[in-house]
Amino acid sequence: MTLPDSAVVPDAAGPLVDAMAQLHKAAATLELPDGLHELLGSPRREMAVSIPLRRDDGSIAVYSGYRVQHNFTRGPAKGGLRYAPSVDLDEVRALAMWMTWKCALVDVPYGGAKGGVAIDPRTHSTAELERVTRRYTSEILPIIGPEVDIPAPDIGTDERTMAWIMDTYSVARGYTVTGIVTGKPLSLGGSQGRAMATSRGVAHIALLAMASRGIDPAHATAAVQGFGKVGYGAARFLAEAGVKVRAVSDVDGAVYAHDGLDIAHLAAHVERTGTVAGFDGAEAIDPASVLTLDVDVVVPAAVEGVLTEENAPKVQARIVVEGANGPTTGAADAILKERDVLVVPDILANAGGVVVSYFEWVQANQAYQWSEREVNDRLEERMARAWHDVVAHSGAHGMTYREAATVLAVERVVDAHRLRGLYP
Ligand code: NAD
Repeated sequence: MTLPDSAVVPDAAGPLVDAMAQLHKAAATLELPDGLHELLGSPRREMAVSIPLRRDDGSIAVYSGYRVQHNFTRGPAKGGLRYAPSVDLDEVRALAMWMTWKCALVDVPYGGAKGGVAIDPRTHSTAELERVTRRYTSEILPIIGPEVDIPAPDIGTDERTMAWIMDTYSVARGYTVTGIVTGKPLSLGGSQGRAMATSRGVAHIALLAMASRGIDPAHATAAVQGFGKVGYGAARFLAEAGVKVRAVSDVDGAVYAHDGLDIAHLAAHVERTGTVAGFDGAEAIDPASVLTLDVDVVVPAAVEGVLTEENAPKVQARIVVEGANGPTTGAADAILKERDVLVVPDILANAGGVVVSYFEWVQANQAYQWSEREVNDRLEERMARAWHDVVAHSGAHGMTYREAATVLAVERVVDAHRLRGLYP
C-alpha cells in the first residue's frame, strides 16, 4: 500500500514507521478511501518550541519540546508528556497517533495527543525541572486546555510535573483549572487509583491473556522490562496474583531470582538507590536478556522498539503484554505471530492509565471524588470490555490482537469523522 502524498513521511525506521504501517493495514482492511486514510495519517496540529533554561550554575541550556495533537474528532486530545533525551518529533507523532486509537478502543471521549521534551531528567535538579516544565507549559498554553488537550505523566514525568503544569496554566487563566492535566496529586484533585491504573490494567490484561492460553497464574512466571510507574506496578500486581516475577530491568541493570523477586523489597531498594541494580535478593543479569528469558509472560514496560528482528526469534515466553507504547517493531511482530507468541498490543494492554485519567477529568468536571474501589471496579470493567471486543474481532476475522485492536479503534474514529462531516 502506498503512503498518502501529504501524510507525514517518517524516517526509515522507528515508532512512526510502525504506527503508520499499523494504520495502513487497518485502512486497507476497512477499505478506507484515500482521503480519509490520509487524514488519519496526518496530525491535526503540531507545536515545536525551544525551552531555554537557566541552570542552577547560572549557565543557559536550550531544549526542544513538542506537543502533537493527532486527532480531536471524538473529543479533546489526550496524551502524556515525556522527558527523555531521545525525544524527537517523529516519536511524539507516533505516540500521539497511538493515543487516538487507544482512547477509541477503550471508548473514552477523547482524541490523541502527546508531548515531549528532549531532556534527561536524571541530570537536572528539581528546581531546574520545575523551570523547564513551567516554560514548556507557557509555550504550549495557547493549544492546551481542559476541553482542548489534557496532558498526563509519561516517561520521566510524574504527579509533581502535573502539579507545576496545573499551576502555570491556572495562574495564566487567573483561576484554578483542575481539569487541565490528569495524574495530579490527590490533594490537587487527582483521582484515587490513577497512579497505579496503567499497571493495574496491564496486570489485569496479562491475567486474561494467561487464562486464554490455559496458564494458571499460581504456576506462571514473568519478566518485566522497566521498573518505573508502569513496570513496578505491573510486577507488583502480577506477583500479588501469584505469578513468579523472575526478572526485572531498568536503564541501569537487571536482576533475576528463579523463585520470584520480592517486589516490595526491590521497590524499597529502588527508592533508596534509584535503580534495580545492586539488589541483594537476586543475581545480576544482562538487561538485554530480560525479554528472552524462559518465562511464560514478558512485559516490556520501558521504551519503544525493544523487541526487534534480532531478539524476537529468541523470545521464549508464550505471551507478550505491551506495558510500554510501541515496544515491538513491525518486523518483530511478524516473527512473533509466526511463532504463535500472543502479543497483547499497547493500545489495549496499557490503556488503564487513560481510562482512569478520563475518570479523573470527569471527577474534576463534577468537583466530586470517587472511592478507590469505584475507580478500580470501573477500570476493570472497561479493560475487560475492550479485551473481549478485541478477542472477538480477532477470532471473527482471523487477525492478530494488534490488527483487531487497531481496526476497531480506527473504525470508531472513522465513524465519528463520517457523522461530523467535513468543514467547510
Ligand atoms: P517511567 O519513567 O516511570 O519508567 C521508565 C522505566 O523504564 C524506568 O525504570 C527506566 O529506567 C526504564 N528504562 C528506560 N529506558 C530503558 C531501556 N532502554 N531498557 C530498560 N529499561 C529502560 O515511565 P513509565 O510512565 O513507566 O512509562 C513506561 C512506558 O509505558 C512508556 O512506553 C510509556 O509511554 C508507557 N505508558 C505509560 C503510562 C503511564 O500512565 N505512565 C500509560 C501508558 C503507557
